[in-house]
Amino acid sequence: MATIAGVAVDTGHWIGGERVSSAGTFTDVSPIDERPLAEVASGGAAEAEAAVAAAHRAFPAWARTSREERARLLHAIADGVEKRIEDLAQVETHDNGALIRSHRRGVMPRVAHNFRFFADWLLNLGHDDFETRGHTNHVSWDPAGVCALITPWNAPLMLATWKIAPALAAGNTVVLKPAEWTPLTASLLADITAEAGLPDGVFNVVQGYGAQVGGPLTAHPDVRRISFTGSVPTARTIAAAAAPNLTPLSLELGGKSPLLVFADADLDLAVDLAVEQYDNAGQVCLAATRLLVESSVADEFTARFIEKASRLKQGDPRDEATDIGPQVHRKHFERVDGFVRRAKADGASALLGGGPNDDLGGLFYRPTLFANPGAEIVSEEVFGPVLTLQTFDTEGQAVAMANETKFGLAATVATGSPERAERVTARLVAGTVWVNCFFVRDLRAPFGGSRQSGVGREGGDWSFDFYCDLKNTVTAPWEK
Ligand code: NAD
Repeated sequence: MATIAGVAVDTGHWIGGERVSSAGTFTDVSPIDERPLAEVASGGAAEAEAAVAAAHRAFPAWARTSREERARLLHAIADGVEKRIEDLAQVETHDNGALIRSHRRGVMPRVAHNFRFFADWLLNLGHDDFETRGHTNHVSWDPAGVCALITPWNAPLMLATWKIAPALAAGNTVVLKPAEWTPLTASLLADITAEAGLPDGVFNVVQGYGAQVGGPLTAHPDVRRISFTGSVPTARTIAAAAAPNLTPLSLELGGKSPLLVFADADLDLAVDLAVEQYDNAGQVCLAATRLLVESSVADEFTARFIEKASRLKQGDPRDEATDIGPQVHRKHFERVDGFVRRAKADGASALLGGGPNDDLGGLFYRPTLFANPGAEIVSEEVFGPVLTLQTFDTEGQAVAMANETKFGLAATVATGSPERAERVTARLVAGTVWVNCFFVRDLRAPFGGSRQSGVGREGGDWSFDFYCDLKNTVTAPWEK
């Protein structure tokens, strides 16, 4: 048990409705001050096996529950989340360093919404039966079985519940493996599911390092779905582990998304959109880290951007007035710093930032903007507060530059012309395209990436298509 900001968090796994410890533990450190937060049970093959077995045992009864009963329980979980928003916000902020104000007002309410949305969607899932030469076709969404859900540290509970809610709604049982840098809110969610009355074994949490516990989990023959959000290299390892069983995969991966700023755009809006890319200290998969600006407005845009970004307040994420917190972990901070150092050595010039925030020390990295970026910094995902600036002269050139990436997660376009928006968005390769806005997200819409940004889509029917075995039953006319 650990106490974080007055909130008690159990540090054991949650398997079959019980807290389970492990012989080994790992130390969970807060990015705010790099002090230890908790000693967390560290799982391996035995815990992965136990969790899959518990989920497997719980599956038949859970799969038989009515849609109404599952929806009722998901709403009860949402009620539990809403009652504990402050606890969840505090623990998440201490664990991953993201802003308390976003957790309180944005993220945790959306966690509750994730459960409510998929509960309600479930009740309307399906379409009318249809006939083929007098035979009836009936399509059903059958639960698939045990789902292994593996999630990253940048928005731990938010991203986990995008998966947990539809997986449970569909009638599956779940084993969640949260990221080892940020395991704590998943443990609180386990408490909330128990209080809501979710039957034992329907939701399980195993903690630990990726290879040690995630490896056996993703290779397990009783796992029927693997849904992963994280980096491309880990996705390759998971795909290889899943291959012998041909376990279906959903992969939400990285990005190197562009923000295209045309000369006809509202420049104030374009600058706002660009500065927003430093949210969560740049640790956002969707972040438009490549600013592509039409040459004729580039100087004006850059001056206004630097003026606005320089006013961002960096500091303790527990302070409501803070705009940018720390990087999540010393290892990640060093990775970001490595990219920045190599970019400079490669000839890039820092128009803003360009290194750690030495006034604050710790894991605080200055918001950075590079001009003349070299090959690595424009093509690899840094996952920190590092943007690059490039200019273009024609619309065709802008689209070509935007698409010149191995990723395809998102793209943002700032323009005053609806005709241009239509032409450009049609040619962009990305799972989500925003025009004159950013980060507007509706769970009814498909979410995911093209190219190496992912496989599959989440949201609405797309989530249920993934988490279900779709079945078509064709019935001949009954004799009268
Ligand atoms: P990561 O790939 O290092 O880790 C993600 C999860 O995978 C962690 O829980 C980790 O323990 C686990 N893992 C690691 N090795 C494993 C293995 N061999 N088998 C099974 N599981 C294993 O990613 P990260 O650093 O935690 O997250 C950052 C990445 O996530 C970035 O690339 C970011 O773009 C991406 N991301 C994508 C989205 C999206 O929706 N597309 C959202 C958020 C983050």
